Amino acid sequence: MVRVGLAMLQGARHEHAEALRAASKQLDVHLEIVELRSGMEVDEHLDCLVLPGGESTAMRKASQSESLLPALYSWMEEFPGRPVLGTCAGAILLASPEDSKDSFLRAEISRNAWGRQRDSFEADVVITLETPSGMKVLPDSVSRDKFNHQPLPVGEASLTEHDSLFPGVFIRAPRFIQSSIECTPVASFGEEIVGILDGNCLALTFHPELTGDYRFHRWLLHQSLLTN
Ligand code: GLN
Repeated sequence: MVRVGLAMLQGARHEHAEALRAASKQLDVHLEIVELRSGMEVDEHLDCLVLPGGESTAMRKASQSESLLPALYSWMEEFPGRPVLGTCAGAILLASPEDSKDSFLRAEISRNAWGRQRDSFEADVVITLETPSGMKVLPDSVSRDKFNHQPLPVGEASLTEHDSLFPGVFIRAPRFIQSSIECTPVASFGEEIVGILDGNCLALTFHPELTGDYRFHRWLLHQSLLTN
């Protein structure tokens, strides 16, 4: 059983929930998603965390009334080995937490560094993270929540999940400042590193939850089983 804390501040949180459900089916792992809206809900029984993509400024604002972000940061400091997945704005929140806090990643990140919204793009990225294989579960057979989100169609190669290519969806994405990266690269687009692993903290500048490829979500659940 894995209890995943999912930050519900703003952004692609429902899509992450769906991807987690799919990944848990693929791994045949019992899953509980704890939707986190307030700092009070963050407890020691969470096995891992997901910080979704969206708009990091909006997330910081949304966090203010219920102090969710400070509670998540304290949780990460208290349980440094527990896995965390931050995607896009989530990666920004890991690399640039509140004023006084140090980054959770040995890398700096630059917001909106690919350009504006209209410069968003999709491209295959090469992944080197070792992810557990899972039973085949097609996106269509995954139970959806009330938002009935439909994952983006992905190419054949990606659906088979056999190779190192991953369908990268970059939406007004940040970029890691390449010269600042002092942890393990796990995903790259051409020469550029777009995913990093620092300890058990995985930060991606793209959106795996918008695709039907659940390798990163399987990694999170698998790591949670290993570390707890
Ligand atoms: N541009 C957003 C930000 O600065 C991140 C974009 C995303 O999460 N898709 O927070």
